[in-house]
Amino acid sequence: MRKSGAILAAVLGVLAVLLSQLLPLRTATAAASRLRVVFRYDDYSRLSDTDLEKDIFGTVDDAGMSLVVAVIPFPGRPYPWEKDSNREEIGLGETKAGLLRTYVGRGAVDLAVHGYSHRANFDGPPGKSEFATLPLVRQRQLLVSAKEELERTMGLRIDSFVPPFNSFDDNTVIALGHVGFKLSSAGITSIQRDHESLRSLPGTLRPQRLRKTIEGAQSEGLMDALVVVTMHSFDFAESGEPLPACRMG
Ligand SMILES: [Zn+2]
Repeated sequence: MRKSGAILAAVLGVLAVLLSQLLPLRTATAAASRLRVVFRYDDYSRLSDTDLEKDIFGTVDDAGMSLVVAVIPFPGRPYPWEKDSNREEIGLGETKAGLLRTYVGRGAVDLAVHGYSHRANFDGPPGKSEFATLPLVRQRQLLVSAKEELERTMGLRIDSFVPPFNSFDDNTVIALGHVGFKLSSAGITSIQRDHESLRSLPGTLRPQRLRKTIEGAQSEGLMDALVVVTMHSFDFAESGEPLPACRMG
């Protein structure tokens, strides 16, 4: 198995040094005045890099921490209302589901539904979206199918949602509430309308900025804070993927 040196150096090594005295292990209820860091890993699917993900999950587990994994249930699959000639190639598959089960069982992974197929239905200002602009009934249909599939595969109730491209609209928020999601994690610039049963946990940071943020919080004494670090495979050198320009600097 590849060992993820860059992961340790770029992300978790930072925490090993800086957070060992600041964060209780695997706690969701850290006391006030402690800086809390949530790691979110997006785009886990049947098609994503299994070797890399084994290393990420193993490293997180070894460090005694946990990670929110946002899973795409049906990459490439047509929508339920579309003609579908290839319904066989769907779902996570046993290898990817088994990997998640292992680390969910160890308390190192929490699951979120990451859209239906992560298709860019909308591509224009302010950016791509799978859900925004679709009618409420369609959004609800996608969310029901995605949630049911992932829950059936994992044998777990999953009530967290990460919108693809960090993008959604008012109908998404309504549909999420109808379908039974309790938490939505989009981006820091996404404004989420209040909804009685849906909490918002926006991503606030990319991993390249984690060290600076923690050091800044320490020096300013701003420790009563929560940061949500959003990660993708391209954030890890071992993926061999180029880092998008938006992640640099
Ligand atoms: Zn995504």
